Amino acid sequence: MAAPKIFISPAKYVQGADAIGELGKHVYPLGRHALVVGGNNGLQSTRAGRVLSFRENGVTQTEEVFRGESSDAEVTRLVSAAQAANCDVIIACGGGKAIDAVKATAAQLGLPCVVVPTVASNDSPCSSLSVIYNDDGTFNRLQFLGRNPDLVLVDTRIIANAPVRQLVSGMGDALATWYEADASYRSGATNVPGGAITQSALALAQLCRDTLFEFGVGAKLACERHVVTPALERVVEANTLLSGLGFESGSVALAHALSEGFSAIPEAHRHTHGELVAFCLLTQLILEARSHEEFSRVYEFCRAVGLPTTLAQVNAEPGDALRRAAAIAAEPGRPTHNLSFPVSADAIYDAMLAVDAISTL
Ligand SMILES: [Zn+2]
Repeated sequence: MAAPKIFISPAKYVQGADAIGELGKHVYPLGRHALVVGGNNGLQSTRAGRVLSFRENGVTQTEEVFRGESSDAEVTRLVSAAQAANCDVIIACGGGKAIDAVKATAAQLGLPCVVVPTVASNDSPCSSLSVIYNDDGTFNRLQFLGRNPDLVLVDTRIIANAPVRQLVSGMGDALATWYEADASYRSGATNVPGGAITQSALALAQLCRDTLFEFGVGAKLACERHVVTPALERVVEANTLLSGLGFESGSVALAHALSEGFSAIPEAHRHTHGELVAFCLLTQLILEARSHEEFSRVYEFCRAVGLPTTLAQVNAEPGDALRRAAAIAAEPGRPTHNLSFPVSADAIYDAMLAVDAISTL
């Protein structure tokens, strides 16, 4: 029997300017004493609204400063902190790594998980998996948690006051969502929960892409001026909700596999996940021989919002290191092979050089 279709998502998604003032209302049904985990910025930017809304709704909290790495050691430490304080709900206030560590902590404790992203830089908040790193920051594994967050709450005023590079990085991650889901669907690949891909996931992924093309530049301008506009609202939703649902119930392909390959290039480490995914998406589109019109649309979008379109912009150059990145992406079992045709390391390497050459036209 063919795998049945599966679609997964967080139980509740809340988004809006000053939405942090509603946090207590939405947490109350999940737990009464929260462990709140974040870096100093994440804790600080959410504190006023969080504390007030908790007081209004009879929720108490213990704050715990995140130590910076989503590692097994940090998850073990957070599990102990939650047990020591007798917490019955775990909340992340911060960026990707704090969110990943909190999701893993809540899963280990079997407690409800709440995510309050303070940047819109990636598609982690809504998903049922955590990236676990070694203590030195190198990649360890993807941990499948078997459960999505119970609540994701995004305050767009907090996002508007975060660095614009974070928002643009989120657009890079979100831009790849439809192209990777579409490729995976056409090849019959399974998605993160191990099912076939629904039409719903494809439609959401397509809306994600179209939202970026329509409102991406406007959202960037709004973030630069720290104002909340309808364009910013739509792009935050695309980066956080649509991208999250799209990649998880859709699936990823070469763009994400190659971005992991870039971890072999130390100089590329200073780039965000989304920046690398954007360049790797252009590489995927070249390999897929997408039409000139479609490729140009993605390429020009990247240039318009400031996502990398050349090797120099991801601190890479032709040579052994780049070949290593391509070789990692081509390893058996990588989502590269969700494309419907065989892909070799040489083909990936050549496609990266082809992307790079476009800027010289
Ligand atoms: Zn991603």
